[in-house]
Amino acid sequence: MRKMIRVEQPRCLALRGSEWTERYNTARRLNPAATFRWYSRACYADIRTALQATTQHHCAFCDGFIGSEGRETIEHFCPKSRFPEQAFAWENLFPCCDVCQSKKLETYHELLIKPDEEDYQFENYFICNYGSGELQPAPDASEFHRLKAEKTIEVYGLNLPVRKKARIRELKKFRAVGETMHIDEFPYRYYLAP
Ligand SMILES: [Zn+2]
Repeated sequence: MRKMIRVEQPRCLALRGSEWTERYNTARRLNPAATFRWYSRACYADIRTALQATTQHHCAFCDGFIGSEGRETIEHFCPKSRFPEQAFAWENLFPCCDVCQSKKLETYHELLIKPDEEDYQFENYFICNYGSGELQPAPDASEFHRLKAEKTIEVYGLNLPVRKKARIRELKKFRAVGETMHIDEFPYRYYLAP
């Protein structure tokens, strides 16, 4: 998980976010099973573009490329089913890959790390195991940070076998051609150049 610096929210969301939140919450009051939707396709596209620009098209959680392994998604950090009042809150939206989102689903845990937290730094929470491709809690992290790292790895499936393999593969590539390519052209940037 790489530090994410959030930009200004798209104008359409600033203008209409509260109205859509009210609309979604009203729909849920009438029918608790009411499904969430983005009420404007154009605004959804603007939100997605703005989010992906902040991470150079990487997933905010695993740092894999968005869309390379499935559809592009916008993650509600606090799930919209449980926190409907945050369904259109800019600070609750993250660019996310299919794998992370399908692992997390409607899970929420207060220990989860937010990549745009002001004091978030990769090395305060994690270390990379270059032999196994694994992400591990930093051994010198505080107890609290270790718990947060463990929970985040678990909930987003950051050590799924496919991901460990992919990190090793990208590291080989990075070592072979890294100097000729910009780091943003690689997935798992925290792993290649922490
Ligand atoms: Zn991901």
